[in-house]
Amino acid sequence: MAKVLYTNANLLDGTNPAQPGSSVTVEEGRIKAVSGPGASAGGSHEQVIDLQGRTLMPGMVMGHWHGAYANYGADGGSQAFSGVEQAFLALSNVQLALDCGYTTLISAGTHYNIDVELAQSIEAGHATGPRIISCSRNYMPAQDAASTMANEELCMTSGPDAFSEGARYDLDRGVQIIKIFASGGHGAPEGMQMTAEEIQAVVDTAREYGARVRAHVSGRQQILDCVHAGVAIIDHGDEADDECIEAYLENGTFVLPSAYVLLRAAELGGNTFGFRNDMQDFDQSCALLPRLVDAGVKLVPGDDFGVWQIPHGDYAKELVCYAEHANIEPLELIRWSTCYGGEMTGVGGLGTIETGNHADLLIVNADPSANIDALTRPDNIQAVIKGGDLVSGSLPEPLAAASAG
Ligand SMILES: [Zn+2]
Repeated sequence: MAKVLYTNANLLDGTNPAQPGSSVTVEEGRIKAVSGPGASAGGSHEQVIDLQGRTLMPGMVMGHWHGAYANYGADGGSQAFSGVEQAFLALSNVQLALDCGYTTLISAGTHYNIDVELAQSIEAGHATGPRIISCSRNYMPAQDAASTMANEELCMTSGPDAFSEGARYDLDRGVQIIKIFASGGHGAPEGMQMTAEEIQAVVDTAREYGARVRAHVSGRQQILDCVHAGVAIIDHGDEADDECIEAYLENGTFVLPSAYVLLRAAELGGNTFGFRNDMQDFDQSCALLPRLVDAGVKLVPGDDFGVWQIPHGDYAKELVCYAEHANIEPLELIRWSTCYGGEMTGVGGLGTIETGNHADLLIVNADPSANIDALTRPDNIQAVIKGGDLVSGSLPEPLAAASAG
């Protein structure tokens, strides 16, 4: 693979403020060198691409992904689709995410083991798509014996042994993450909750396979139960207090507020899935976010895109929502989408532009650290590069082969 020099870049490395006039060298799918303004990139390169001040940033990571959803919950939505239809839908959605600048998706639940098999197809080169960290079907507590059920989309059960046995079904098929619903709230039925023993059983079983657990959880006590049990990813955590924040920090827990769906559900009404029709939950999340940021909690974006309230493709609107309603700085939102998201994958070398990392890069025709809204406009996403290869958009015209000296 050719050695490529991206020069004259407004570099957003995933951590630091923008550094105009930077250069990045890519070879064999990896970042070979990063040099700041005025420094020589050194060596010879087969291809030199002058970015003319465009932003070069890490490919983004979506931390909460449901590929098999489209218009979910509305008439004609994917809840009525067959497994095969859902698989085609998932392929189309991951390619849409790639076009939007997401080179890695961390799933938060799928059906028919689609994540694992789609990830394998992409890795084998049968389809173009982002990296996928796979997830299981949803695991929920059964309210009573009559509501116990298990199929390709859902495992609703009770008791530590039954949860553990259910989880093995997905783990044996290769999922990297098990998704549990530890409590209701944030769109899930109020009153629903898993016991601390059930949560622990799922975590212990996942660990046997080297897998992790993520939890949809809203209630304070269940948040603590999850973090203490070793749940790695807290989805939403709406009712977190100082004790929860302390537990997040002690355990290096990742937190996904996913609050954009709360805003849209309140604006659109209809109350599907148990989202509130008013702004109470959204306002609560917006009040919590700055506290989490100030404490140093690792937040990652990702929402229930594909439910009817928020269509796939609107991903960056979640970031704009946090900037506008919770006053989160654009640079901080970029860190969530790159550095923290990369860390949350559990795969080394993703999410920042550093020597040795995977060359998952985004060329943007604007500076999102000045205005996060820039990421919502498709024509700003000039090129998406995964493992050094152009996978979406087009590169600015390269200069002739040259020695950068
Ligand atoms: Zn979700």
